[in-house]
Amino acid sequence: MRWLGPWVMALLVAFAGCSATDAQEPRAAVTSPTVGAVLSSPAPAPAVPSPVPTPEPAPPTPAPIVVLDPGHNGGNAAHPEVVNAPVPDGAGGTKPCNTTGTATNAGYPEHAFTWDVALRMRDRLTAAGVTVVLTRQDDAGVGPCVDVRGQLAGQVGAAAFVGIHGDGAATVGRGFHVITSSLAPGGPDVAARSSALAIAVRNAMTAVEPVSDYVGSNGVNPRRDLAGLNLNQVPAVYVECGNMRNATDAALMSGADGRDAIAAQLTAGVLAFLGR
Ligand code: ZN
Repeated sequence: MRWLGPWVMALLVAFAGCSATDAQEPRAAVTSPTVGAVLSSPAPAPAVPSPVPTPEPAPPTPAPIVVLDPGHNGGNAAHPEVVNAPVPDGAGGTKPCNTTGTATNAGYPEHAFTWDVALRMRDRLTAAGVTVVLTRQDDAGVGPCVDVRGQLAGQVGAAAFVGIHGDGAATVGRGFHVITSSLAPGGPDVAARSSALAIAVRNAMTAVEPVSDYVGSNGVNPRRDLAGLNLNQVPAVYVECGNMRNATDAALMSGADGRDAIAAQLTAGVLAFLGR
């Protein structure tokens, strides 16, 4: 390179500088909407390209939480001293901690039905991206009391609470119904959401079981005597999935296929309520 004079070397250095500048231009063109105007201007000062901002990733949407409350418990009948103890009913009075529940005429107990349906719902909701919290962990324990069950959903920040039951009405009555608290314990907005949850569950359940022909109105029945609903601060319903004393309902509720169909429709109703 010795034969190149200083003038030539200066040109080479200048050319190398232009090349570096050219390599940066496309980034400036992408980030600046006024680049056309800049390029047509006679002598703009070379702009230092701004760092390209990295978009912040959107925070992940937390999975909604749903509390499932399988009614009663397998050990309740053996421990009346526990389940008969009075607890707050959420309406200014008291009621027993829990009850043994009903059964079909053939002896299939409500606590076993509610536990089985809850597990089937849990699996379906979990697969759909919902976090499920159960009010009891097996079907051999005692309680928990209805006031404890009714406060769990608020404590864990649940989007919905679904109590699962089977009714023990006169044998002629058939069908399911959904219960809400008529006391609006979480205020009018939560009460409206509870009604929406009840309608969503009612609509889904009609695919597997007719609405009750003996209680409520078109499958929905507000009440003021259920602590598990009165103490709830989130959208909450009880579902009496059928009348276990009615032969037709009992046949559906006693079979695994029937319980699976009920769980599928309850899940569909909950997911519809959640908008998922
Ligand atoms: Zn029950």
